Amino acid sequence: LAESGNKAKSEFLALISHEMRTPLHGILGMTSLAQEFSVNPEQQECLHTALESAQSLFEIIDDLLDFERIESGQFNLDLEQFRLEPVLLELKALYTLAAKNKDIVFHLSVDENIPTHVIGDPYKLKQLLSNLLSNAIKFTNNGDVYLSISLQKIQHEEAYLVFSVKDSGIGIPFHAQQEIFDAFQQVDLSSTRAFGGTGLGLTLCHHITRLMGGELSLDSTPGLGSTFHVTLPLRIPRKVRREEPSQKNETIEEPQSYKILVAEDNKVNQKLIRKMLESAGHCVEIADNGKEALDSFEKKGFDLILMDCQMPVLDGYKTTETIRNREAENGGRIPIVALTANAMSTDRDKCLSSGMDEYLSKPVKRAELLERIQRVIKEANKRSIETL
Ligand code: ADP
Repeated sequence: LAESGNKAKSEFLALISHEMRTPLHGILGMTSLAQEFSVNPEQQECLHTALESAQSLFEIIDDLLDFERIESGQFNLDLEQFRLEPVLLELKALYTLAAKNKDIVFHLSVDENIPTHVIGDPYKLKQLLSNLLSNAIKFTNNGDVYLSISLQKIQHEEAYLVFSVKDSGIGIPFHAQQEIFDAFQQVDLSSTRAFGGTGLGLTLCHHITRLMGGELSLDSTPGLGSTFHVTLPLRIPRKVRREEPSQKNETIEEPQSYKILVAEDNKVNQKLIRKMLESAGHCVEIADNGKEALDSFEKKGFDLILMDCQMPVLDGYKTTETIRNREAENGGRIPIVALTANAMSTDRDKCLSSGMDEYLSKPVKRAELLERIQRVIKEANKRSIETL
């Protein structure tokens, strides 16, 4: 009974988190579009607050989804070779600002001996450090927050890196120092508590660290502050992959206008994507499901298809497969970009193996969507010139 109760809870959590993402995607997208078009400073401020609130809600839902994935054994690493520097600089930019808003100072120090490239999951590493840094800032009212990275040792082609997040905040009572790593545990659960939160952040940190084969430890003195140490073994690549030339060095091209077919069944998303694309000068046609998308694809010359994955009548995967089969007979290859609310790592592989070229998970930001469209079309053009 306990097991089936637990299973029902997990399924409910997964379903409800997924269902909440879709309307929230609409709220976030429309609010940020409204902010772009509004000139009145008062409206701007209201929209900014609405955006921040929607973003916080989104983060809570993502934490719940991740927690559910851990419980069901679906929380896995996506390993790739990456550079540590951009990850650290991104965190620095984000948390310098967050700290400044609370009148505290953020410091980053990096041991110069750490390897430039490692093999690991950069997104989960960012998620792990973000959780620790957000807590450090949340529970500190004055003073400093430090992120320091040092090299402990190199053994069997692995660099053991120690990431330390130190704050001068309220500290954690000794009796609670073990429990706070358990799900939904918080030091202060009273109705008068001063800090919000779900109690899931450290549970996620603990799991990510374990998945990466590392260790997470805590040093804290109530009233003086806390330091979380994460020791991670990260493999050093034998051969450093040649970097893609940075887009910043390329000549900036005039954005072009494209004819884009959007296969999407949700009315709010249809409206949102149409607005995002049309405001950038693109022509948009909407198909309510995969079958309609196939009919439109046959009739008109589109430059690209944005494809939702879950749609009635014919889903995005089957639609893409059918398009690729028809192209195998008749020639041509239209770029297809998946746009989906599914946020699992296996979804990306499923999209690519059905024949799509790229994958974007909702909520997508306008700038990211436009940049991706431009890039995918450019790459497709380059490929077709090379095959000529
Ligand atoms: P949340 O921050 O959402 O409550 P976490 O799992 O991240 O959940 O943290 C659990 C609890 O551990 C927090 O509620 C807080 O009581 C305590 N905690 C975590 N980090 C710190 C910190 N840097 N300083 C003081 N307390 C902390």
